Amino acid sequence: MCRWGDLVMVTVPRVWRGKGLPKHKTTGIDRCIAPTMAYLVAQGFDTVASCCTHGQTPWARISLRDGTEIRWPSPSWGQAA
Ligand SMILES: [Zn+2]
Repeated sequence: MCRWGDLVMVTVPRVWRGKGLPKHKTTGIDRCIAPTMAYLVAQGFDTVASCCTHGQTPWARISLRDGTEIRWPSPSWGQAA
């Protein structure tokens, strides 16, 4: 079960980009979808948000900068606390 705050540090694209700022940052990603997030970033996807929904919905979600929403069966669906 992946609870709120159970995070794994993953290097992802920065959502807010300013001159001179690095293009990536390291941030906490929900543990159960961190490998998926890391894979997408490694493949060059410009991610802006992610959530496994912690068992609240049947799907997990990763949002891309262009508005694309990637959803797939949540690893924590049915395990809500
Ligand atoms: Zn999770």
